This record gives sequence, C-alpha cells and structure tokens, in this order.
Amino acid sequence: MSDGYLWGQMTWPEIRAAAEQGRVALLPVGVVEQHGYHLPTRVDTFLAESICMRAAAEMPDRAIVVPPVVHGFVPHHMDFPGTITVRGPVFIDYVVDVCKSIVSHGFDRILILNGHGGNTSVLDIAAKVVTLDTGAFCAFLSHWELEPVKRVVAELRESPPAGGMLHADEYETSVYLAFDPDGVQMDKAVKEYEVPESRYFWMDMFGGGDRITAARFIQPWSSFTESGVAGDPTVATREKGERFVAAAVEGLVELVDEMRERPIRKAVDRHGRQDSRIVGDDSRVGPW
Ligand SMILES: [Zn+2]
Repeated sequence: MSDGYLWGQMTWPEIRAAAEQGRVALLPVGVVEQHGYHLPTRVDTFLAESICMRAAAEMPDRAIVVPPVVHGFVPHHMDFPGTITVRGPVFIDYVVDVCKSIVSHGFDRILILNGHGGNTSVLDIAAKVVTLDTGAFCAFLSHWELEPVKRVVAELRESPPAGGMLHADEYETSVYLAFDPDGVQMDKAVKEYEVPESRYFWMDMFGGGDRITAARFIQPWSSFTESGVAGDPTVATREKGERFVAAAVEGLVELVDEMRERPIRKAVDRHGRQDSRIVGDDSRVGPW
C-alpha cells in the first residue's frame, strides 16, 4: 500500500485503498484570471492546490488531493487579457459531476478548497447538490476563511480593512511568494484600492473593521482598477506568506479531522407515505 496522497499520481488499487481508509478527498478549485502586473494568471488554482498538497503531506493517511478544477466563474474580469470564464450553471454541473465521481469510488467526505472569490456563490450550490443528491458529506470553503488564517491576517495585515485586501493583494501576493517566489514580479506590483464611503458597498476578503456587512455586488473589474489589482501587494512579503500558509495548513488539517469524526446524517422521509419516490438513496436524485 502506497502512502501516496496525490490522486493523479496513484494507481486505482491505491485509490481504492485510500477510500477504504476513510480519507477525506480534498478538491482544489480555482480559476485562470488576471492578477495585476506582478502575478501570473494561475494564482487561484495554484494556491488552492499548493495548500491542499502541503496539508495532505501532514496527514497522508487521512486525506487525498484530487487534481484541481482549473477553470471557474469569473465574468467580471473578462476585460483583462488572459482571463477564462465558465458560465455559472455549467461550472456548477461540472463540479457536481467531479464530486459525484469521487463519491462513486467510495469517498464519503469531500472538502472543496476554493481559491477564487468569484466562485463562492456557485460552489455553495455545487456542494449542497452533492450532499443532498448522494448522501455524502461535501463541504466547501475558501482558504482565507480558515480560522487560523483570519487570526494571522488580523495580526500581520498592513492594508486597511474594508477594501484593502481583495485581489492580487497583500494576502494573495504573500502566499504566492511563499510557494513560488520566482514567479512574482514584485517590481511591477502596484497599490490600487478604494476606501469605501458606503456602509454596504465594499468588498474585502477579511471583512471591514467596525462595518457590519456588505451587500453583494460585482462591477466589471476594469471599471475601478487599471492594473487589475484591488489591494496593496507592495506590502506583501514571503515571510508573511509563510505565516499565512502555515495557518492555512493548520486550519485545513483541523477541518479534515473534524470532518472525519463528524457523523453523516441520513435523510429521513417524513411524508409517512408507503410509496414515496424519494425513499432510498438511489432515488434521491432531484432536479435541484
Ligand atoms: Zn486570486
């Protein structure tokens, strides 16, 4: 039995054994999109996959990393060369099919680790559909939502809250520097962000200080940033990135272990009908 944890480098008997071990399947999901003058287009997929790989290396008996979903939902960046988008419903169907394939091989716990903010609303639907259609436990979150990451960001961030960290910014650039320092052209990094005047219309990966919330709203990125950056990558450093990555790995290991211990609750038909069409796992495939 190999102790491999990279799905794409394993044989089918090794993957069958990994399923029998009850490992959690980690599915990195990103996008190909512009990331300013200083970062390459692969950032979101590369970071999600790299974090999954680093975390799985710490728990090769409890996790397996599936090859990533490279393309995602990003119509709001299409004014910049290099961005590739997939329509929302197509993306949802694609991710659902990938996850159902994983479930069909015996994995009953999947964690989608997202690396692209624009994917969140569609991945939310995809994860719900997988869970409700298959009875497996499919959860999703973005790496900046892991609790240890939020804690370290609060400690280290120099960009202002509510608008200072969003895209190709201090966080993303630092994390990229930690994994591939030669891939960053720091001399081309520029600071570009809007300090919000509205209580509701602002965006920031890590929230906004004393502001209570933000209304969801996307403008074409080209309408408010010339470089494509939203944030301040000039204060990014490899040292910060290594702290962020360590926090992400800590959070991911913690989350995988919780998922492994958490019982999977089965649906119960409360209709009281003898001939209910939705009784039994095989028929639990609805149109939702
Ligand atoms: Zn990004």
